[in-house]
Amino acid sequence: MTDHARGRIVAAMAPPIYLDGHSTTRVDPRVREAMAPFEGDLCGNPSSPHRAGSRSAQALSTARAQVASLAGAAPAAVTFTASATEANNLAIWGFLGALGPRPGGRVVVSAMEHKSVSEPARAAARAFGLEFVVVPVDAWGRVDEGALREAVRGAVLVCCQLANNEVGTVQDVARVASIAHAAGAVLHVDATQGIGRVPFAMRAVGADLVTFASHKMHGPKGAGALVTREGVPLRAIMQGGPQEHGLRPGTENVPALVGFGAACALYEREGARESARLAALRNELAKRLAHALPEGIGILGPYAPAEGPGGHWPSRLGHNLSVWIAGVKGRALVEALADRVCCSTGAACNCRDGRSTDVLRAMGVPDARGEEVVRFGLGRFTTADEVARAAQLVADTAQSLRGRAR
Ligand code: PMP
Repeated sequence: MTDHARGRIVAAMAPPIYLDGHSTTRVDPRVREAMAPFEGDLCGNPSSPHRAGSRSAQALSTARAQVASLAGAAPAAVTFTASATEANNLAIWGFLGALGPRPGGRVVVSAMEHKSVSEPARAAARAFGLEFVVVPVDAWGRVDEGALREAVRGAVLVCCQLANNEVGTVQDVARVASIAHAAGAVLHVDATQGIGRVPFAMRAVGADLVTFASHKMHGPKGAGALVTREGVPLRAIMQGGPQEHGLRPGTENVPALVGFGAACALYEREGARESARLAALRNELAKRLAHALPEGIGILGPYAPAEGPGGHWPSRLGHNLSVWIAGVKGRALVEALADRVCCSTGAACNCRDGRSTDVLRAMGVPDARGEEVVRFGLGRFTTADEVARAAQLVADTAQSLRGRAR
């Protein structure tokens, strides 16, 4: 079959059920509406001294206030970036660069961090002559408090995410902040998966540097933020313009940032309700999968098994489900479902090789089991009907892959 003919068949099929909300999310139509004028007539550069420019500058300042409000910070604390990865790099390289040499100092990261935190943290620690320490976690992915207390001795920077993109673990970041601060370290929180979805206010928590991105929150791609507590020094990692406090030079992506602001405002109003709705749907998905695949299925991450898949899921994102299905490779299942259900194995960025992930390993999941993991991320537009259909499709496909493997 030619690519053209195949393309026509795929186009004619029903759209797949999208359950990959940890990778990215669909833009809310209300967000698109807020962005539209800035993708059309309102094209001014916010640095320009004319009316079109000042209109964009005004919109940017509204977006900054909306993003700051969701984070529980002041607008001036927000530095816009293009992604969470960029904000994480700015936080780590920027802070360690501003600090300068600290012989004997440490950079401490939790074992659950996304690579956009762990890799720059490791590289920057090496570049600045600091020791790099990874703090272990328990079987649910929660930071080991005793190990953290040991690790923070001499630490200048501690990185602990708010919530995990693979298994949904929500960390007690306020506790981590008090331990980090008692040791004199600054705390960076990658809040990319958790902000708007679990209660979080930067000042109340005691976080010093906070990262998140628009496209995980039903906002557009190309917009992220680093929120910095007053007094935390940062050195620019790029030069060439005064934008964003001189920390992120270059013309601002006004439409995307306006969308980011609108997405934050929606989460501030609707986040708690949405999380509760998605948790109920997630529980339903787990229940249906367990029912359709009675042997050899298990849930990874925080979950109280005694209460069954409909029960209590403590310290976990409401929209996350991570399961292993015995005898079925996660990657094979994701590929076999590709036209009908969008889901993934580990993080989207490292899911193509089919191997287990550092996060699962840190939780003590054997590699063979880690290769059987499938992750679902429900979203604002997920319906009960989609959950029912997806559960059936996943279960049927898993059964047929199992049959083939026998
Ligand atoms: N941190 C976490 C926890 C994430 O889940 C992701 C995306 N998977 C990122 C950072 C990177 O986000 P972005 O794609 O916006 O750079």
